[in-house]
Amino acid sequence: MRELGIGLRRVLRGRVLVQGDEEFEAISRPWDAAVDQRVVAVVEAADAADVSALVRYARQAGLAVATQPNGHAPSAGFEGTILLRTRLMNSVEVRPGERIARVGPAATWGDVLAEAGKHELVALAGSTAVVSATAFTLGGGVSWFGRKYGFAANSVRSFDVVDADGAQLTVTRESDPELFWALRGGGGDFAIVTAMEFDLHPGNGLYGGRILWPATRAAAVMAAFREVTAQAPDGLSVWFTLLQFPPFPELPEPLRGLSAVAIDVASLDGEGHDLLRAFEAIPGVIFDTRGPLAAADLGAIAAEPTDPTDAFVHSELLTDLDDAAAAALLMSAGPGTVAPLVSVQVRHLGGALSVVREDAGAAGHIAEPYMLSMVGVLFTPEMEGPVRARQEVIASALAFRTSGRKPFTFLSHDETAAHAFPASTLARLRDIKRRRDPAGVFRSNHPVLG
Ligand SMILES: Cc1cc2nc3c(=O)[nH]c(=O)nc-3n(C[C@H](O)[C@H](O)[C@H](O)COP(=O)(O)OP(=O)(O)OC[C@H]3O[C@@H](n4cnc5c(N)ncnc54)[C@H](O)[C@@H]3O)c2cc1C
Repeated sequence: MRELGIGLRRVLRGRVLVQGDEEFEAISRPWDAAVDQRVVAVVEAADAADVSALVRYARQAGLAVATQPNGHAPSAGFEGTILLRTRLMNSVEVRPGERIARVGPAATWGDVLAEAGKHELVALAGSTAVVSATAFTLGGGVSWFGRKYGFAANSVRSFDVVDADGAQLTVTRESDPELFWALRGGGGDFAIVTAMEFDLHPGNGLYGGRILWPATRAAAVMAAFREVTAQAPDGLSVWFTLLQFPPFPELPEPLRGLSAVAIDVASLDGEGHDLLRAFEAIPGVIFDTRGPLAAADLGAIAAEPTDPTDAFVHSELLTDLDDAAAAALLMSAGPGTVAPLVSVQVRHLGGALSVVREDAGAAGHIAEPYMLSMVGVLFTPEMEGPVRARQEVIASALAFRTSGRKPFTFLSHDETAAHAFPASTLARLRDIKRRRDPAGVFRSNHPVLG
């Protein structure tokens, strides 16, 4: 390992850590520490030239590079790779006149939204603000505003990349349609992105928040959720979540150990507000945080953890949320039975996400109108078995309404790219991977050849 460290330090200006270095263990650990990734070195690149030097070095040494800004979506397949951390490349530039943002690969959605919000613009961020905008977008990216504007990947104008030869290129629809297509949803298997330019969208009248009830209201809230989502305009996103708060003393008293049901809402320009009265009619509200939002607060709606967490997520796309599916969900995860999971969520999709577009990237479209996402946090390592078993029970109860496909950004640790793409898309991605990266220098968290 010492030689690897010496060799990398000779060609790079950024930081290099190898096994045996004091901070190596801490810096190689992903945000989701449930995964043990046994990398041989960690590089914090200073800039695109450093990334290029790293790729050339790795290729010559017969090693692969795994880019991981944070590790919310890690994988156990990184053994023997060099882990590239992008922390030092976190620039955000917003050009309000053009409604375009240009970001470095470490810039988070929180960073982007804070800048965009100053100009009444929004970006297509998802439920958490602490992930890299680039990582999210390379996987397609299902945003709060996906119903209005489609996958985040389809708002991209250009990527600056380092390719498998170490060359620095700008990739656009015109310059390289094939790579531009693969990067918009196929993940991190084809190049290392060193900057990304994408469209921002008008963010006036941004509104959102959460309504929380005790879980005993789950049936009424589900009925209203189905009624509202059946009519929702594309600018309104509504999610239904069954929650089990842990009994931890740091939680405020009403939430400690509480079984609850929540509705999370985000909308633009007042779209669909009148529909939300269906929820206001349900008694027993514990709190209602809805109101006008600053773009920077978008990531707070669903109150997801922002500190590193050991978690197992299992997601399924639902072909329908009809009477039978709603009953199956409430039977299998009804009041007080969510544990040992912390949440069982149904997101309303549809709208622009379901539209087949000629100019779409590899993310394509999502025909299924809802997504089920079940999260288990491993407060102790022994919880892994029970968490997975609980997720299986709920997924099995809904198997008659699941398609088997999942959005790329919702693949769990042990699922593969084959779960995310139709066969023809996967075949095209594999062909591009074989031709563009024949030596396999890039190692994605969900490799298309895996
Ligand atoms: C709490 C939580 C909420 C979430 N909500 C949503 C949501 O609403 N919608 C949604 O779509 N997803 C959501 N996700 C999933 C999330 O978007 C993905 O897991 C995302 O990839 C994580 O970002 P990260 O910065 O941790 O990426 P990492 O896990 O660090 O990287 C993921 C992969 O991206 C690739 N990659 C990253 N940067 C580069 C680069 N510069 N060049 C080439 N490849 C690169 C690599 O292959 C890497 O393995 C959520 C995840 C969590 C934990």
